[in-house]
Amino acid sequence: MDLILFGIQGSGKGTQGKILKEHYDMAYFETGAQLRKLASEESSLGHKVKEIIEAGHLVPNEIVMEIVEDFLSKVQDGKSIIFDGIPRKIVQAESLAKLLDQNNREYKAVILDLSEEEALNRLTKRRICSNCKEVYPASYKGDSCEKCEGELVTRTDDNAESIKVRIEAFINETMPVIKMYEDKGLLIKINGEQEIDEVTKELIETLDKILK
Ligand code: AMP
Repeated sequence: MDLILFGIQGSGKGTQGKILKEHYDMAYFETGAQLRKLASEESSLGHKVKEIIEAGHLVPNEIVMEIVEDFLSKVQDGKSIIFDGIPRKIVQAESLAKLLDQNNREYKAVILDLSEEEALNRLTKRRICSNCKEVYPASYKGDSCEKCEGELVTRTDDNAESIKVRIEAFINETMPVIKMYEDKGLLIKINGEQEIDEVTKELIETLDKILK
C-alpha cells in the first residue's frame, strides 16, 4: 500500500515521511527534492525549473509526471512508496491516479493537519544543510548539520513573498485534492500541531492498522 503524504508547508511532512520510510522500509518520492536536483543542472530545463521554484510557483505537470514515471520504473518490486509533495493540484491528482492504476498500485492519503498561522511561523524559521540538504526545524538551535557538519542556511525559496505564494497555492490548489481523497474515503487525518515525536506516534499507531 502506497501513502500519499499531505501537509501545508512546514507541517513536518518531510520529517515524518523520512521516519515512516525507515520504519516501514518504504521507497520515498520527495517531489521538491527531485525538482531541486533538476533545477541545479546546467541545462535550459534546469534553469527554467529553478526560476519557477524560486518564485514559489508550481512546476508544469508534464515535467513532474515524467520524474514520477521514471521513479516508478526503477522502484524495487514489492516495495511500497511514500509520495511527498505530489499531487498538488487536481490535474496532477488525476495524472497520478492514472499512473498508479496502470501500475496496479493501491494507495491511501495522509494529511498532517496544521493551521496557516503555525505554518508561516515554522517556515520563516527553518533551515537546510547547504551540503546534504537535511532540513532543520525552527526548534533546532545549532549552526551546523548533525549529519555532515555542513552550514545551515535558509532555503532560497523560504523568503516571505515565496512562502505567501506557496501557502496560497496549498489552500487554493492542494486543499481541493485532499477533499477529493476524503470524499473517496481514502484520507487519514493526523494532528500536525503536536511535537514531532507525538505526530510520529499517532502516525504509526494509525498506519500499523493499515500497513501490517
Ligand atoms: P517543496 O520542497 O515540497 O516545498 O517544493 C519546492 C518547490 O518545488 C515548490 O514550491 C514548487 O515550485 C516545486 N514543486 C514541488 N512539488 C511539486 C509538484 N507536485 N508539482 C509542481 N511543482 C512542485
